[in-house]
Amino acid sequence: MATTPPNNSTRPTKAFGQGNPELARYAEELFTPVDAVLEKFHRRSKEAGLPDIQVGPMDGRHLEVLSRMIRPRRAVEIGTLGGYSALCIARGMEKGGVLHSFEKSEVHAKVAEANMREAKEIGAHQIDFHIHVGSAIEMLPSISDLAPFDLVFVDADKPGYPGYLEWAVQHLRSGGVVIGDNTFAWGEVHLSHTKSGNDQLMVGSLDKFNREVAKHPQLRGTMIPTAEGLTVAVKL
Ligand code: SAH
Ligand code: MG
Repeated sequence: MATTPPNNSTRPTKAFGQGNPELARYAEELFTPVDAVLEKFHRRSKEAGLPDIQVGPMDGRHLEVLSRMIRPRRAVEIGTLGGYSALCIARGMEKGGVLHSFEKSEVHAKVAEANMREAKEIGAHQIDFHIHVGSAIEMLPSISDLAPFDLVFVDADKPGYPGYLEWAVQHLRSGGVVIGDNTFAWGEVHLSHTKSGNDQLMVGSLDKFNREVAKHPQLRGTMIPTAEGLTVAVKL
């Protein structure tokens, strides 16, 4: 009798968490203990009525660790919300580095600014945080002269992702990293027609982003199979 499950493909089956939610919870509990500063960011955002759509604690930890590996001096974030992911990135940056973050909502930008200012006052980060308020695709050219950048994190409007990717590839240094959040498109990125009422343009744009990362001659990428999917690529 066969002792291994049938596997028609030659690809090994080594999915994250082995497809086991309890195993995934084990990893989450181990690597995302209570984080008072991030929890304060989250609380303040909720109190100000911001949508509850920041990266989860585990993706926040992924961002922090990736940032610590890159140690960016110059970084870009597209989609600030209340500054939760900004702090995760900031923690890994060189002291005195600059994070340019783009946010179309003035209300969100104000909350993020207050969160990041207070965090700096208590020594939770040591970088300069600049928010650019307005449409990211229109405002990114205003920092193009400051290139090359070490890290670009993409997390704003999903239809904008392919355009943000193009800007990132042009303005990253070689060895620089681009990260896209939510690239599983709520579990539907692999479908040609969405099933759950997810917006087709949103899902299609995330699919386009992943495909362009995968085939781009100047990038070497992968997907980190977190809850929401993080696409990560380094510029060659
Ligand atoms: N990165 C944040 C979450 C960002 S949520 C975190 O994890 O903490 C997405 C944000 O992008 C929202 O605040 C939204 O207002 C902003 N946004 C949406 N479309 C945008 C655009 N075209 N330009 C800039 N920001 C945009
Ligand atoms: Mg996101």
